[in-house]
Amino acid sequence: LGGSISRAIQQMSNATIIDEKALNECLNEITRALLQSDVQFKLVRDMQTNIKKIVNLDDLAAGHNKRRIIQQAIFNELCKMLDPGKPSFIPKKGKTSVVMFVGLQGSGKTTTCTKYAYYHQKKGWKPALVCADTFRAGAFDQLKQNATKAKIPFYGSYMESDPVKIAEEGVERFKKENCDLIIVDTSGRHKQEAALFEEMRQVAEATKPDLVIFVMDSSIGQAAFDQAQAFKQSVAVGAVIVTKMDGHAKGGGALSAVAATKSPVIFIGTGEHMDEFEVFDVKPFVSRLLGMGDLSGFMDKIQEVVPMDQQPELLQMLSEGTFTLRIMYEQFQNLLKMGPIGQVFSMLPGFSSELMPKGREKESQAKIKRYMTMMDSMTNEELDSTNPKLMNESRMMRIARGSGRPLRDVMEMLDEYKRLAKVWSKMKGLKIPKKGEMSKV
Ligand code: GDP
Ligand code: MG
Repeated sequence: LGGSISRAIQQMSNATIIDEKALNECLNEITRALLQSDVQFKLVRDMQTNIKKIVNLDDLAAGHNKRRIIQQAIFNELCKMLDPGKPSFIPKKGKTSVVMFVGLQGSGKTTTCTKYAYYHQKKGWKPALVCADTFRAGAFDQLKQNATKAKIPFYGSYMESDPVKIAEEGVERFKKENCDLIIVDTSGRHKQEAALFEEMRQVAEATKPDLVIFVMDSSIGQAAFDQAQAFKQSVAVGAVIVTKMDGHAKGGGALSAVAATKSPVIFIGTGEHMDEFEVFDVKPFVSRLLGMGDLSGFMDKIQEVVPMDQQPELLQMLSEGTFTLRIMYEQFQNLLKMGPIGQVFSMLPGFSSELMPKGREKESQAKIKRYMTMMDSMTNEELDSTNPKLMNESRMMRIARGSGRPLRDVMEMLDEYKRLAKVWSKMKGLKIPKKGEMSKV
């Protein structure tokens, strides 16, 4: 996909006369590419129409950077298509919310339920899992195993065959136990069947969820729209989670799911493990859809923000690729100072959405300072280590004592480190373009 889009845009920028015909040719090429990426035909057509309205042919002809203009227009248009205009219901810590997961069998519901619970648990919530899947043999065992591993309370039954009854009982029980996030896992079938949708309707009626999340496998392709719409017609889907983004699929079906449910994507699943779960970030997702790579926007920003004389240092840090706790400490210092490099790092996918969410800068700063206090209690060996096994329990306990923070905080800080190290490892070997050089689509 990336190849054909860049070829199309390349052709465009090579043409000396930009006329409507050339723009059309370019758009047709991109259309084919987006279809290959599983974006629904109708959505691609809509985008095409909008782009034609936005891209001013006179601007192109006047010798402005054509590639840039078209790239930006397409990028913005796709970002807009992922924004349904209203945020999803956001559960509040300490206040009971019921969240119901729906989706076809194999889409990743049970896995994602646990990830969602675990994600919140780490932030101090009291989640609980209810297994209302009585259709698939072994469904309860799977949820039980996941929940036990994450130390999350669960409810289900081997005997009871009525999913509605189990869902109702489970939600009831956890409400009594003052859990603030009660997650209901449901069954799926291989096909869209009337019985499945009727079951979902009944489970929703019995549990009155505050939020229904539609879970979608990123590789379902063009089927995404119909699937999402079918669920939306039986229950009030309010958010989407796209799974298996670690695979080959670019996830263009997410655009369809957003269009069909008029709900935003809130998380993506990036692996089978509990912590392979990320807050959805529109821009890196669209970059991937267009084959631009997660970090292309970041690379553009580097040129804008970092003065030339600071680039060698940055370049060296990036090319080394190993992310030690000391590097994290230094980056935190930069972030707090919001010096040029701090600004750059705040634009990185992992740094921006999770560590410093918009509107919560004060809170984030306090958190970063807390992390740094704990890191002040670390030895040089710990700060410079590249061995993930070094940080054992007795070291963590010593750091907790030394900094006067609970062990839980130390663990949270180390989780954050692992997450950032993952983002960092993606940057290894990236070439930073020189100022004025255009990044390629
Ligand atoms: P359910 O039938 O909808 O409950 O789906 P499951 O949660 O049982 O998941 C089906 C399969 O997909 C399992 O093997 C999971 O480990 C796998 N899976 C779920 N989410 C992801 C993901 O984000 N990445 C990868 N690689 N596998 C996933
Ligand atoms: Mg399941």
